[in-house]
Amino acid sequence: MYENDTIAAISTPAAVGGIGMVRISGENAFEIADQVFCSVSGKKVVETGGYRGLYGKLRDGQGEIDEAVTFVYHAPKSYTGENVVELCCHGGLYLVKRTLRACIAAGARLAQPGEFTKRAFLNGKMGLTEAEAVMDLISAQGSHSAQAALSAREGAVYRKIHGVADQLLALSAGLAAWTDYPDEDIEEVSQENLTEALSKVCGDMNQILKEYDTGKILREGVDTVIVGRPNVGKSTLMNLLSGTQKSIVTQIPGTTRDIVEDTIQLGDVILNLADTAGLRETDDPVEKVGVELANRRLDTSYLILAVFDSSEELSQEDKEILEKIKDRPVIGIINKSDLQRRMDVEYIRQRVPKVVEISAASGEGTEALSAALLDLLSISKVDTSAGIIANERQRACVMEALSVVNQGLQALKAGETLDAVGVCIDAAIDSLLSLTGEKATEAVVEQVFARFCVGK
Ligand code: GDP
Repeated sequence: MYENDTIAAISTPAAVGGIGMVRISGENAFEIADQVFCSVSGKKVVETGGYRGLYGKLRDGQGEIDEAVTFVYHAPKSYTGENVVELCCHGGLYLVKRTLRACIAAGARLAQPGEFTKRAFLNGKMGLTEAEAVMDLISAQGSHSAQAALSAREGAVYRKIHGVADQLLALSAGLAAWTDYPDEDIEEVSQENLTEALSKVCGDMNQILKEYDTGKILREGVDTVIVGRPNVGKSTLMNLLSGTQKSIVTQIPGTTRDIVEDTIQLGDVILNLADTAGLRETDDPVEKVGVELANRRLDTSYLILAVFDSSEELSQEDKEILEKIKDRPVIGIINKSDLQRRMDVEYIRQRVPKVVEISAASGEGTEALSAALLDLLSISKVDTSAGIIANERQRACVMEALSVVNQGLQALKAGETLDAVGVCIDAAIDSLLSLTGEKATEAVVEQVFARFCVGK
């Protein structure tokens, strides 16, 4: 499972920048660095203490590559827990690629995606959830998701899951002691106590799963559709939220009234936004296609921004739209607040969970929309520092643990032996420890690091 050869990769983005870095990790990192780097002081990397830097030149068989600063880390006090050298030169793609090739010629192997972090995990520098959080931190797009990833990086998910596993471990130990040593003076495990304790564990796991849904919205954004009858200001709202008509606005081809899509960030929330055709009954075959598409998008989106023109009275079409979207997560957008109001806003307020007055033309009210989003999606209530499970792998482990604990509860109810309940508890513990990495199989570890980028 663990290869201890020396690996190297470019750790900065594949783009031009001020600085480019090639990282080397493994037993021969210092010797390899000494073949490609020559310090001005004449000091070799192998002679340099940990957390020290050297200034000098990078070179290969063809000659000098660039000037560079080299940082040295001694095992185990490094990111991977091995000897590590970071060669930092100017951030030109040609320069870093040539430096990497020189390292490989000197005996390093090209690192696999995530291999540095995988080594950190295998060397006990971090747990599996902490390693996964490294990737989430890199891809975080807002302060909430970055904070959740940072907390996970610092062990919050591990502690939370371990808290649940510890409850189960205590139950399992109590159960084993009581059934294995009937003659000893050990506290009796009653059906009521066990039921109560297992129900509490189920409650904790359900809460963890609920927070996952919110965390997912923070990381990946929420699928959102803008609906409303024609001319209420849907496209104007779309353009307001997108900034100007940006190049990433895509038009799905092959439709006569296109759905316009964009991913935007409003405050701390990412919206995967779709502007649709005006919803109304129509005989026009061309418009019909657009309305059909809009209806389909309405079904598949999570969040609905329903736009109304406050300068006109509510029409029958507006009321039909309100009927169609009732009981769903909706923000009623009372648009054209800059014009004289003729609309009965109360009618809308009674039918949707949130209402925001805006002027899509001037941008007034966008902050209120942002606050309404946080509130409706329960994001403002989530404590991102408390450890939110971060991916489908972790979620599947909690689901599995929950399912077997529920089986244990059913076994108790059915009056089965406590042994049978103990088996369920132990299976749940295994799932949770697989989540934290303490009992993860090789396949699980491979799966985790496969989604990393090269150089991390
Ligand atoms: P859609 O058919 O729902 O996409 O509506 P549009 O975005 O095309 O807007 C219809 C008309 O309303 C256009 O003339 C817009 O300029 C106008 N409009 C949109 N939002 C506002 C607003 O907030 N205030 C005012 N005064 N006019 C607006």
